[in-house]
Amino acid sequence: MGCFDTVHYQCPSCHRELEQQSKGGECGLRHFGLHTAPMNVLGGIDMEDACRFCGVPYHIRVCAVSITPMPTVPNLSNASDPRCADDYW
Ligand SMILES: [Zn+2]
Repeated sequence: MGCFDTVHYQCPSCHRELEQQSKGGECGLRHFGLHTAPMNVLGGIDMEDACRFCGVPYHIRVCAVSITPMPTVPNLSNASDPRCADDYW
């Protein structure tokens, strides 16, 4: 009980300090900023909440890790690729 890490951040609207206790991570009673918290600690907080001061809802987005497809290079040997059609250019 009570052995949680805490993440501190500012409300994006009124800029007052908010905090959440994380259920992730090692639960070492540590304190982190939103930009310095380990990923497993961030994973233990609610990504959607509302400011307890001004009531504005906010959404925390963790963008440090993402997976996206690489840009594809037209395959010139594939005649069915529309980018290789004669009228493409
Ligand atoms: Zn606020």
